[in-house]
Amino acid sequence: MARIIRECMKEEGLDRQDVQKKYKIQSVHDHGTYQCRRCGHSWSSYHSCLTLDLQQQRIARRWRQKCDRCKKIESPWFHQNVLEDMVEYGIRRYFKLVKGTLNGSVAIKPKGKPPHRSDLCERCGFGKRQCWISRNNSSHSDL
Ligand SMILES: [Zn+2]
Ligand SMILES: [Zn+2]
Repeated sequence: MARIIRECMKEEGLDRQDVQKKYKIQSVHDHGTYQCRRCGHSWSSYHSCLTLDLQQQRIARRWRQKCDRCKKIESPWFHQNVLEDMVEYGIRRYFKLVKGTLNGSVAIKPKGKPPHRSDLCERCGFGKRQCWISRNNSSHSDL
């Protein structure tokens, strides 16, 4: 996991010593899968979110979702290539933020076919907010 971040940063020419503190936290999302350890139910989501710490080159947070059936909270699992894309996306966004070329706060188009269940999503605060509304133009970390 940390290896993917290290390698992507190397490819993109970003040294951890140079990472600007205020943009080091990048939240990214993509297709992830979940399996409930209590009832065995499995599901997937296009809004499986990770919070990356580019300075420490690690995943600061894996945002979880609740099992629709028994409400147990589970962490997402990602394919290796999906993870690489997510990390790359986070690094590119980091560069845009540093250069100031990222346009305002843009709502990410929900690309998933089944609508995102914000009541089951930890990042949505289980229905309190919409995690797909980008908050990346603010410098605060949402850890
Ligand atoms: Zn379950
Ligand atoms: Zn959400």
